[in-house]
Amino acid sequence: MIDDKAVASIVLHAPMQGWRCPLAEVPDAVFAQGMLGAGIAIDPTGDTVHAPCDGTIRTLQPTGHAVTIAAADGAEVLIHVGVDTVALGGRGFTPLVATGARVKRGDPLIRFDLDLLVREAPSVITPVLLLESEAYAVEAIGGEDRAVAVGDPLFTLVPQHGAASRAAPTDEGAVVTRELRLPLAHGIHARPAARIRETALRFSAEVRIVKDERVANARSPVTLLTLGARLGDTIRVEGFGADAEAAVEAVAALIESGMGEAADPLQAPGAPQPVAVAAPAPAISADGRLAGVTASPGLAIGHARTLHLAEIAVDPEGVGAEEEQARLDQALRTLARRLEAEAATASGARRSILAAHRSMLEDESLRDAAQAMIADGASASYAWREAIRPQAEALRATGDAHLAERADDMRDLERRILSLLMGVEDAPITFPPDTILLADDLLPSQLMALDPANVVGFCVEKGGPTSHVAILAASMGLPALVAMGPALHEIAEGSMLILDADAASLQIAPDAEKLARARTLLADRHARRLEAQANAAAPCHMIGGERIEVFANLGSRADAEAAVANGAEGCGLLRTEFLFLERDTAPSLAEQTAEYQAIADALAGRALIVRLLDIGGDKPAPYLPIPAEENPALGLRGIRVGFAHPQLLQDQIRAILRVQPIGQCRIMIPMIASLDELRRVRGVVDEIRGELGIREHVEVGVMIETPAAAVTADLLAREADFLSVGTNDLTQYALAMDRGNPAVAGAIDGLHPAVLRMIAETCRGAARHDRWTGVCGGLASDPLAVPILVGLGVTELSATAALVPQIKALVARLSMDACRAHAAAALECGSAAEVRTLAREFRA
Ligand code: PEP
Ligand code: MG
Repeated sequence: MIDDKAVASIVLHAPMQGWRCPLAEVPDAVFAQGMLGAGIAIDPTGDTVHAPCDGTIRTLQPTGHAVTIAAADGAEVLIHVGVDTVALGGRGFTPLVATGARVKRGDPLIRFDLDLLVREAPSVITPVLLLESEAYAVEAIGGEDRAVAVGDPLFTLVPQHGAASRAAPTDEGAVVTRELRLPLAHGIHARPAARIRETALRFSAEVRIVKDERVANARSPVTLLTLGARLGDTIRVEGFGADAEAAVEAVAALIESGMGEAADPLQAPGAPQPVAVAAPAPAISADGRLAGVTASPGLAIGHARTLHLAEIAVDPEGVGAEEEQARLDQALRTLARRLEAEAATASGARRSILAAHRSMLEDESLRDAAQAMIADGASASYAWREAIRPQAEALRATGDAHLAERADDMRDLERRILSLLMGVEDAPITFPPDTILLADDLLPSQLMALDPANVVGFCVEKGGPTSHVAILAASMGLPALVAMGPALHEIAEGSMLILDADAASLQIAPDAEKLARARTLLADRHARRLEAQANAAAPCHMIGGERIEVFANLGSRADAEAAVANGAEGCGLLRTEFLFLERDTAPSLAEQTAEYQAIADALAGRALIVRLLDIGGDKPAPYLPIPAEENPALGLRGIRVGFAHPQLLQDQIRAILRVQPIGQCRIMIPMIASLDELRRVRGVVDEIRGELGIREHVEVGVMIETPAAAVTADLLAREADFLSVGTNDLTQYALAMDRGNPAVAGAIDGLHPAVLRMIAETCRGAARHDRWTGVCGGLASDPLAVPILVGLGVTELSATAALVPQIKALVARLSMDACRAHAAAALECGSAAEVRTLAREFRA
């Protein structure tokens, strides 16, 4: 019961400048029909949301588009800037406060880029409302349809007599629970929260949604928002009372339907939103198998050991801004030194990931956000966590693979700094021999800290096959599966496991026969690996003498050294973007020349195929003014960036042509879609050759990454010196599946017959003009794919350096006739799965 002697009315003031209008004018039924509560709307002309009253920030969405303020017990006010702005993934919003902050009326809360919102959101009209409350009612002050300035009174929250106090949920009488993974691309934000409430209200049962240890009442949008539930999170729907079963079913079905917001690569703000069906989470089969997605191939036998990492608890209140800032600065310095030291002794993927972490630590926006919170009284650890999480979540919410990878890296930095600040540094992660690690998720630093002598493989509930963790696992030769779903936690600690990452399958508690078979296979592979390593230096020929070049994909000089040690016969793809990313200015001509020369020297005369910069859109560089794109995979990337920045293209070609001896470097063009692009690049190469006085022919080849390039391979081959298939991109474009989207991770497979037919077409086109075709995408490192590729006519395979000995040994056992027949059969298969089955049965 509310006592109105003790509870006063609260006046709410305009949080922004603009035009005041009725809530019914908001073009979103959730707001217009008052599903979330009563209030008004403002069509903004200013660019800042201010606090409409004194209070505490209950939620500030990671994407910065909405904020709720607790004005009093039972009075929570929502300001939601624009409609569908959650889909901007944080673009255009700068949160100025953190969840939990106490604010005074008029304090700035969020700054927004009004121009960007006008351009990209369906509407900028901003609801300001009292979230459905039994304790208060809304009484408007002044009429609608008039201009308001920040601070003008808008409405009064009037305490209600006799309002029933909401019973706190109890644990008694739980009758129904359902666990599910959240399929909503933007998590539970205002609109799904309102729909969930609407559904829950149809039943008398109390329905709760539980995430980790946080519990929300399904009828309370604000508690739903505070769950912070994101795409892919496991949540539990619980029901209590007479019609609990029906209520839980209805709420779970609503969430599982995706509510028109299921993760979908085709979804764009403002576009009609199809109701997508969420991919079902894998379940353990009757014979004890659990499927996953291969992040790193291989076979391992071991025991299940779970990696539990408790969230590091932080105290929100600081002991004084100066002291807290000094502590944060110290922790940042310590981690920066550690990352540098770790990078100094690392090589390849590990080194570049550590370098990326080091540069992310320098991010000024993170430091500024933390500093602002510390100045407001927060502790260093709370400020760091609250500064980094919204950014990580906003990156993840973009749905973009490369950005999402960086979100995982940010989580890693969050944990490492909190460990330092709270003095709870994670002990070295040690496990007994033959451990197969099971975890919710694994951070890059955790994987790097594992003892590879004891951990023989890992499986994670979440994750994607293109994450840094996947890249690291492949570079460590550690079999790994990702996206295995919550069923992973049903596996008893210590269970015997066979992790067959090649078949994307985990066998739990195998019987004696399966175990014996796996052991034989493993021993056989081990013997073969030793033999392959011993013979790695020999040139690669098939059984009948046909020459197949086995090259390596490189990103640095250290990679080149490792590749040579593994018997690589050259470099089929130098990813030059490593030199260009994570920095404020483009590398100079001298810097580029020195780096390419060092790699050429490390290859000691072997061919070095340098790919022109493959950057843009999904791999942004701050010094390249490429506008944000709705669909970066189809935008300004690859050679298109070079044409948009001719100086950059010329400098890179000049740097490559300066490498001695002339001819060791060949030039490869990424993302070719038509012949004239090859001609333009050839024109630049010839011009610079003339300028440098180079008479020798310099080879210029094209990457076949688009269906357009594959089907016009004969036209390209007339003028290109070689063709190299980038199967990673060719697969994503052929199958219309985003290569980094976990929702399609299980289906995106380069062995799809459509992709194989495009490779066949490429080989035919190249052969017509006596040109060779290589493969430098992931298929070249896949032992199941190699016989098919060779059978289709591929004569150069550029693989991950660590796998070169194995690929060479495999090719040496193959006969061309058998490979051709095998490839022809693969082209007739109905699906990638059928091709994989065929490939597993193939004997050369
Ligand atoms: C590819 O697309 O297959 C490729 C090798 O290029 P990247 O993976 O760098 O896009
Ligand atoms: Mg590519």
